[in-house]
Amino acid sequence: MIIAKTSEEIELMRESALIVSKTLGMLAGEVKPGVTTLQLDALAETFIRDHGAVPGFLGLYDFPNSLCMSPNAQVVHGIPNTTPLEEGDIISIDCGALKNEFYGDHAYTFAVGEVSPEVQKLLEVTKESLYVGIRQFKAGNRVGDVGYAIQKYTEDHGYGVVRELVGHGLGRNMHEDPEMPNYGKRGRGKKFVEGMVVAIEPMINMGTRRIKQLKDGWTILTADGKPSAHFEHDVALVNGKPELLSTFKFIYEALGIDSDEELEFRQ
Ligand code: MG
Ligand code: MG
Repeated sequence: MIIAKTSEEIELMRESALIVSKTLGMLAGEVKPGVTTLQLDALAETFIRDHGAVPGFLGLYDFPNSLCMSPNAQVVHGIPNTTPLEEGDIISIDCGALKNEFYGDHAYTFAVGEVSPEVQKLLEVTKESLYVGIRQFKAGNRVGDVGYAIQKYTEDHGYGVVRELVGHGLGRNMHEDPEMPNYGKRGRGKKFVEGMVVAIEPMINMGTRRIKQLKDGWTILTADGKPSAHFEHDVALVNGKPELLSTFKFIYEALGIDSDEELEFRQ
């Protein structure tokens, strides 16, 4: 059942999402060759707690850390470890925070130093597919409209859309109804309702959409070993239109990037 939020609840969710956005912004300045994902995880946990929140993933379904850290061919749910990042890597960082009993859940794939042009293209197309999907999150549309848009956009670039993992409703629980697949058929699935909040999160592979899982029971990686990217925003349906609760602006400030990509999703 989809749980619509009141405007007061949406403001609380904005606060949770913003803590995650600021955490990713802090991490943006720390992602560089030589740093380990475990070091970044420790920085994030401290930062989240200093902002009066609790890491949203730590202990959730028994996940051992605060961040999901998925480099290169890892899609999502990678566990932080002591392997240093290297020039040319990409690292997908997924972060959650719980404050005032509401979750924020938001992800970005960072380039470590210079990456190859084809990897850079994967990052750009995956991020753009997130906005292509968010544009379809509006009154009158259904879950399948968002999935169709993301699938069409990314498959037209020759990429693989992961099927086994999906976006989701968000609120007092990290995962609420509805599931938000990054593939689908137009006009199908649950109808969107005013006040609902979803995490839209394309997971896009450079090669095959097929995945496998490591024996750690968590890490999802591409079956062909090619890179995968993951971008995620928290979005509320307000006045029939998508409104971003999360923001990449702190990341862009840290990286010196000028972007107005989120403007159309502000009310
Ligand atoms: Mg996430
Ligand atoms: Mg999510």
